[in-house]
This record gives sequence, structure tokens and C-alpha cells, in this order.
Amino acid sequence: MIDGQAVAAESPVINAMTIDVEDYFHVSVFDGLVPRADWARLESRVCANTERLLEVLEGTQGTFFVLGWVAERFPELVRSIARAGHEIASHGFAHRLVYDQTQRAFREDVRRAKAELESAAQVEVFGYRAPSYSVTPQSLWALDVLIEEGYRYDASIFPIRHDRYGIPVSPRHPYLLQRVAGNIVEAPASTTRVGPLNLPIAGGGYFRLLPYAWTRWGISRLNNREKRPAIFYLHPWEIDPGQPRLQAGLLSRIRHYRNLDKTEGRLRQLLRDFRFASLKTMLTNSAATTSPAVTPAWALPYLW
Ligand SMILES: [Zn+2]
Repeated sequence: MIDGQAVAAESPVINAMTIDVEDYFHVSVFDGLVPRADWARLESRVCANTERLLEVLEGTQGTFFVLGWVAERFPELVRSIARAGHEIASHGFAHRLVYDQTQRAFREDVRRAKAELESAAQVEVFGYRAPSYSVTPQSLWALDVLIEEGYRYDASIFPIRHDRYGIPVSPRHPYLLQRVAGNIVEAPASTTRVGPLNLPIAGGGYFRLLPYAWTRWGISRLNNREKRPAIFYLHPWEIDPGQPRLQAGLLSRIRHYRNLDKTEGRLRQLLRDFRFASLKTMLTNSAATTSPAVTPAWALPYLW
């Protein structure tokens, strides 16, 4: 095994560490199993798990996409995240898939989440990530709503083929999207290109279910060969092997419960192997260092 410090030292690229702050019962694969009306009655583990992540991430700044539902119940948690120096961003309010909502309901959801987070942390919220990356070809209207609601970047378009999400032809690196309502920066979760395919390399189930070597190889390839930062993502429940088990179908159980006991160790290894900052910092750095001649979209400045 190659020494982790050597890899980090070798690559000057600063990646983005992002955490989607939600509880184990909010997850989309469990939609329908746990009625929303019951959420408040279930044992909540999001505070303990997020605080644990804050300890693991000590010395690294990240972006926490906090669910508005969590912020409303646990505003002190949002303040702790902000106090630790992390960026607060929005995961929407009620964890509904974008393409399952009307435009009006989506607007209310993202507005309420932004207000809740800003009131809890007393900071301005710039970023949004949809539940289960649910900005797809049929819900691109969401970007106009986000612009109108004051969001500056979105991290919801996954450039892969997947049964629930993804726009496989969309760009793999951050870009500026020009919409009717204005401009918004899109920050896609990271992939590596293998033949005609974009394969996910940096986060969530792909980090937890596949061997760590996959993530390490993928991020190294991105940093060293493409000279681009990766956007990594994880959820607090992914480091919690003690969470209550919900009676889901077999595939959902594999997706959600496998390797929960290994994820924290892997995250610690990842932090030794690569350098990370918040997504806002990463986007600002990339905008400053990317030549406008190569990617004209970057020519426009980001106004945070
Ligand atoms: Zn989520």
C-alpha cells in the first residue's frame, strides 16, 4: 500500500468534502416505508452522527448540506457545524425528490430550508443539493427556481446513468449554467471516464459498498491526470453501524446497511490521502485558476 501522505503531498489539488446532513430514515430508498408523519417519533441519531463526523473532519473544512427538517428541530447542530468552520448549505426541507414535486412545492421547500438554515447559523446559504440527485432532464426547471430563491450553486446533477437519477451527457466538472432566470454554478459529484462511461468515484454508496481502492484510484486519476478537484459526499448515517434497521427490500438493505462499520475508517484514510476544503472554496479556487479560453463558462466571476 502506498503511503497516504505521499499521495496528498504529490497532488496540489484541493478537493471538496461535502456531507448531506439527514437522519437514517430520511433516505430516499426508504420512501414509503416510514410515513413522514412518523419522522418526529423515530429515534433521531443525526446529531450524534454529525458530531462524530465533525470530530473526524477536525482540521478539514467541508460543506454540510443540511436538511431543513433537521435544522428546524436541531438548530444548535447547525450552529455547531458553522462554528467548526464548515460551510452551511441546503439539502431542501422535507427530502422530497425534485421530479416528484410541483414547481410551487419545490419553491416552498427550498425557500423554507434556506430560511431555516440562515436563521439557525446566521450565515448566508449559497448552495443546494437535491435529495438523491433528483435534478434530471424532467426537473431542470428546478435550476430557475433555485436562482430565483437566491441560491448561487447547485450540486444535484450527477453525470451518470442510474435508475433514480443522473444526466449522463452533462459535464463532469463544475460549470456555469445559463438559465432563463439567470446563472447558476453546477457542481457535479465526481466521476471518472472509462471508455464511453462516466463512473462514480467519490462518495455515498460508491464509497461504502466498493473497495476503498476504487475511490482512491478515481480521485488520484482526477487530481493527477485531469488536474481537477473531486467533489466527495457522505451522510452522517453512513458511519453509524448501530442505527435501527428498517424493513426494506433486499436491494435497499444492501445499499443502505452494508459496510456501515467500515466507513469511518475509510473516511479517515481518505483524509490522509487527499486534501479537502468546502465546496464554496473549491469552486472559488477553480474559477480563479481555470483558463477562460479552455472553458468559457468560467470567465464569469462568482459573486458569493
Ligand atoms: Zn439526502
